[in-house]
Amino acid sequence: MSQQILQVTGLTARIEEKELLHGVDLTIRKGETHVLMGPNGAGKSTLGYVLMGSPKYTVTDGSIVFEGQDITEESADKRARAGMFLSFQEPLEVPGLTLESFIRSALQQKVGHVRYYDFKKELARCMEILQMDPDYAQRSLNVGFSGGEKKKAEILQLMMLKPSLAILDETDSGLDVDAVRLVSRGIEEYRKSQEGALLIITHSTRILDALEVDRTHVMVNGRIVADGDGTLVDEINRSGYERFEQSAEA
Ligand code: ADP
Ligand code: MG
Repeated sequence: MSQQILQVTGLTARIEEKELLHGVDLTIRKGETHVLMGPNGAGKSTLGYVLMGSPKYTVTDGSIVFEGQDITEESADKRARAGMFLSFQEPLEVPGLTLESFIRSALQQKVGHVRYYDFKKELARCMEILQMDPDYAQRSLNVGFSGGEKKKAEILQLMMLKPSLAILDETDSGLDVDAVRLVSRGIEEYRKSQEGALLIITHSTRILDALEVDRTHVMVNGRIVADGDGTLVDEINRSGYERFEQSAEA
């Protein structure tokens, strides 16, 4: 059996007094691509934030095991350093910190010293795949970037940092067709270059056309109500979430 990257068991979490996740189970193995779908407000982004350790949420039950370590109580910073990566719906803007320095320092935190020449070469290669203007390397992180450029900057981080788990939240929203294609190519590069694992949160399926999906999960009202293989995505495309919403109420 292949190596487990993430094992979530009975995960229950709340924000203030409101319980948003109720007993979520999810197992992701090395090399796998999982898709989390579900209607608006189902709790998909919440699951992403809770997995990353956002202090806004309180875990009241269950556990998160990442590469064999129980990280349920660990800080977001520690999780990121351990190899978890979350692409936010709204990425942070950091005036004064260039995209290049940001990626280089994150990479050095992960693997130690990186030769500048090698780093620049790899950065240029990845930026070319994403068709990003090389000037962007010297611009302040996300400052004045368009929606599509922010997404590309995140996929660039993914390609350069090669986290062992990447959680991509609505990465394709607001992208034009060309950008979706380039972003998918970047994700595919990440997938191929090493044995990472992906959790793609989306309610559209455009980005999935270019990616091979191993498992699909459907979330309704803070619960995973259905799991399946890639064909579940096609079924949702055809008939929407109604069937799952009904079974969630029953
Ligand atoms: P999704 O990403 O699936 O669209 P979210 O995880 O963003 O859904 O939201 C799940 C639910 O959590 C929604 O019903 C939302 O209204 C609720 N929610 C988010 N933030 C808060 C908050 N600060 N207080 C109370 N409820 C919240
Ligand atoms: Mg969301």
